[in-house]
Amino acid sequence: MNKYMVKCLQCGEVHDSYSMNCKNNDESLLRTEYSSKQLVLSDNPGIWKFYDWLPVNGIIEEGSGKTVTYKSEAFASELGFDDLWISFNGYWPEKEASLMTCTFKDLESFPTMQRLKELDESRIMVVASAGNTARAFANVCSITGQPLLLVVPKASLHRLWTIQEDSSSICLVTVEGDYFDAIALAGKIAARDGFVNEGGAKNVARRDGMATVMLDAVLTSGKLFDHYFQAVGSGTGGISAWEASMRFIEDGRFGSKLPRLHLGQSLPCAPIYSLWNDVDKVSASCPEDMYDDVLFNRKPPYGLTGGVKDALEDTNGVMYAVSNEEASSAQARFEDAEGIDINPAAALAVASIIQAVEQGNVRSGDSIVLNITGGGQKRLMADYQTRQLIPSMEVSAEDPQAEEKIVEKTLENVQCWILLTLQHTEVIK
Ligand SMILES: *Cc1c(COP(=O)(O)O)cnc(C)c1O
Repeated sequence: MNKYMVKCLQCGEVHDSYSMNCKNNDESLLRTEYSSKQLVLSDNPGIWKFYDWLPVNGIIEEGSGKTVTYKSEAFASELGFDDLWISFNGYWPEKEASLMTCTFKDLESFPTMQRLKELDESRIMVVASAGNTARAFANVCSITGQPLLLVVPKASLHRLWTIQEDSSSICLVTVEGDYFDAIALAGKIAARDGFVNEGGAKNVARRDGMATVMLDAVLTSGKLFDHYFQAVGSGTGGISAWEASMRFIEDGRFGSKLPRLHLGQSLPCAPIYSLWNDVDKVSASCPEDMYDDVLFNRKPPYGLTGGVKDALEDTNGVMYAVSNEEASSAQARFEDAEGIDINPAAALAVASIIQAVEQGNVRSGDSIVLNITGGGQKRLMADYQTRQLIPSMEVSAEDPQAEEKIVEKTLENVQCWILLTLQHTEVIK
């Protein structure tokens, strides 16, 4: 029997395991169905402990970490909770947390990369990102040597650091323009022969990778939670938490009630909050003035079958909109109480929990998991030598030749890369 199947949620058709879209319609996500209904942990390192519920047939041994879940004492007692659990994603050596790009994007990049390896993919993967996703893919591609084209807004360049020594398979292009310009350019390039898109929320490897946050939390605490808190941009992490919870209900050992999703967004750019509450909290100048602009996504996977809306409806979910003042005060409170620095995006989840208390959405005895989506970057910078990735070229979004120029440069880079690999192989021989 196959380890898993990939099925369309609307038409029910089983698709090729590596599909990202239903061939009959594109208004639905595909979802993985695993043949193991009960999750048994494997002896594999890092995220691969959850091998049974990851859509992979093999692992990347090197460099993979996982979520670390622990029961909060200090922050929990400050808020008056008896059963608050923290799922920490990042670097925190005392807790053996080793996601080395310091966010949960590492949970998406490793399974995605593993599947490219299974396909023996020789095309160049294209990733557009304002930061954390780009850093995570740069990290895994440095480990495996997969050719990668990263298209990032120039203003996000500072987020592209790495601890890897060799990043020669990566072509980094900065775009003079905003995140949408970067996405638009990357989209056009990914549609060309020789290039492949990583797929975003439609890629089951990304969702099931992120779902391991919930897998870790439930296996550590021994039960399904009453509430799940996360900061969202696309909302993909929320969908993943919901999907993991449904699998656990089928598993049967951890309870039968779906955790309620509590998802936080940053004002003044809160598109999912706006859609859900039928208000307009998206300013014209977004992503300007956000607490962390990695959270902005103009086209979240909201209305499609199996998307954010379905996840919120099915779990009786709540959306929160958080001001910069709330976020910064929540970040300081959390860091003081728990003793680790957190990513600014993660502070939105902390602020949401504080709002939830004020709004009476949670009670002191409820079981809660707080997803700290990123943290420990300051710790990592103190312990490791990091290096900034150097752009191969810079284009302007206004330049009509931008797409051509990027393709040319990437192919040039990849040729160099192949040559280098060949030379390297020669030396080994
Ligand atoms: C990407 C990201 C998020 C938001 O993730 P979703 O894709 O919207 O679920 C939250 N926090 C951090 C640190 C991130 O990098």
